[in-house]
Amino acid sequence: MPELPEVETIRRQLAQHVGGRTITDVEVLDPLLVDPEDPRSFEHRVSGRSIEALRRTGKYLFVDLDGGEALALHLRMTGQLLWSASEPLEPTPYARAVFRIDDGSVVTFADVRRFGRAWLLPPGRRDRERAWGGRTGVDALSPGFTARSLQNSLRGRTASVKGLILDQRIVAGVGNIYADEALFRARVHPRREGGSLGADEVVRLHRAIRDRLRMGIAVGGASFDRYRDAHGGRGGMQDLFLVHRRRGEPCPRCRTTIEKGVVAQRGTYWCPRCQPLPEVGEC
Ligand SMILES: [Zn+2]
Repeated sequence: MPELPEVETIRRQLAQHVGGRTITDVEVLDPLLVDPEDPRSFEHRVSGRSIEALRRTGKYLFVDLDGGEALALHLRMTGQLLWSASEPLEPTPYARAVFRIDDGSVVTFADVRRFGRAWLLPPGRRDRERAWGGRTGVDALSPGFTARSLQNSLRGRTASVKGLILDQRIVAGVGNIYADEALFRARVHPRREGGSLGADEVVRLHRAIRDRLRMGIAVGGASFDRYRDAHGGRGGMQDLFLVHRRRGEPCPRCRTTIEKGVVAQRGTYWCPRCQPLPEVGEC
């Protein structure tokens, strides 16, 4: 599933190609993409609009249109936003919507599993916030995400720290990959109760989350599955994973065998020596 670095990679690429340009035509091939809006109405509202900016919060991509509306996009499990300089010669597999740009280029929203979504947000801050409904909290790389805000979110919580940092209302943009990598860097077991972390551990975890996300952006995201960037290319983060998807391999820090289990309903990887789990009842 694309996380913050993957969406940011796509945002940067699309901003270069289509920022400031006009969407001449939209074709919705799968009505589920824009549900509950009528596909023809969506096409009508987006066609002819110019793209003023591309922004991102967490895993959401926002395309600011002239007139103040914004197109919100979420790739979910397998969504892709593919740019091509001209109309593709053959139909893009699993294409769900096609956005044609005034320079002849095309952006295709493709999605095998069809969980991805696109919808229009109204202009005006208040209306937009109402339509948005607090889907996502503070972006992990924004100045608003601090060690202190993380500490406040974890305080008193008995849920696993991994489950808490996956909660997009606590910190937006972290998914299964970067959660495992950040917890390893911070030397915190993913199953620890959120409220049990000491202040120094929270500081380490905050720093590790940002460090791993920035590394992911620097190498264009992680592509062990269907993730592709806007050019159809692969990222390099999968080659830099420290523990994620490395069960049975030696820990890069201490050589202990990396373990895998299920935490917060997600396949989770950790080093049992670098990330100790206190025994129940231990002080
Ligand atoms: Zn280790």
